[in-house]
Amino acid sequence: MNVKVIVNPAAGNGRAKDIIPQIENFLYRKDVSFNIETTYRPGGGTLLAKRAIATGFELIIAVGGNGTVAEVVNGIIGSDAILGIIPAGTGNDIAKMLGIPENIEEACEIALSPTKKKIDLGLINSRYFINGVGIGLDAQIAKNVRGTNTYKRSFLKTLFTSKPININMNVDGVAISKPVTSMTISNSKSFWGDHIVSPDALIDDGKLDICMTDSVSRLKYFINFKKASKGEHSKVPFITTMQGRKINLNIPKSSPIHVDGELFESEDQSYNIELWSQILWVKSKPNTQDLTVN
Ligand SMILES: [Mg+2]
Repeated sequence: MNVKVIVNPAAGNGRAKDIIPQIENFLYRKDVSFNIETTYRPGGGTLLAKRAIATGFELIIAVGGNGTVAEVVNGIIGSDAILGIIPAGTGNDIAKMLGIPENIEEACEIALSPTKKKIDLGLINSRYFINGVGIGLDAQIAKNVRGTNTYKRSFLKTLFTSKPININMNVDGVAISKPVTSMTISNSKSFWGDHIVSPDALIDDGKLDICMTDSVSRLKYFINFKKASKGEHSKVPFITTMQGRKINLNIPKSSPIHVDGELFESEDQSYNIELWSQILWVKSKPNTQDLTVN
């Protein structure tokens, strides 16, 4: 099997770049035919993955965080190639869902093992997502998470400046219209590394998990944040969860939206979001169905 390794050198504040020699060493030892390339600009992972497919690579290993994995996914979707993941980002949520540890040797073993799993992807307008979409406070946080500015720091910075936004949404024929502080539409359980936004989410159940936080005072939000981030949603009265497959979402034009942690640029304020059931093969640890995020 021909293996392409795509590394985002900036991921994990440079961790991804630092582990390249260890990955090379592992692949040499296993006598695998491989080639390593690094991304040098946003979106570069998609381009490199597309080129790899066109030149006959069958296993594409993404080395980085959620954003890197998402870029590679958008390059291999529609092909027969299999995705492998070596987590090296600040948030490695999708890797956690697949039981892939941050230990490099173990992650490499899983990437080369025969165990694979067919997972769902979301599609927003024309872009696929593997982890999820966020608006409101969640999108503001994405705007502020950069470099050493971690999720927690970004959250605190954002909480006291963000304002509720009005959403108009249709979920599988059900109309919802209300102000929200934050909303996520997820394929996986967690965002930002350890923040559990959708405790019931599974990546192969044919459903997207929606989590809406009502417009409440910042103090109330702050007090309950710990419960919400641990996935104890039932203990937080202003959180509503639901599942769906086809979502039409309208938000005010000035409101940011993130897709897999990256701000999503769109001319429109209307988004069509759809779940594509079990359309991507990913290397995973056996029996990941029952894994919890922590
Ligand atoms: Mg699901």
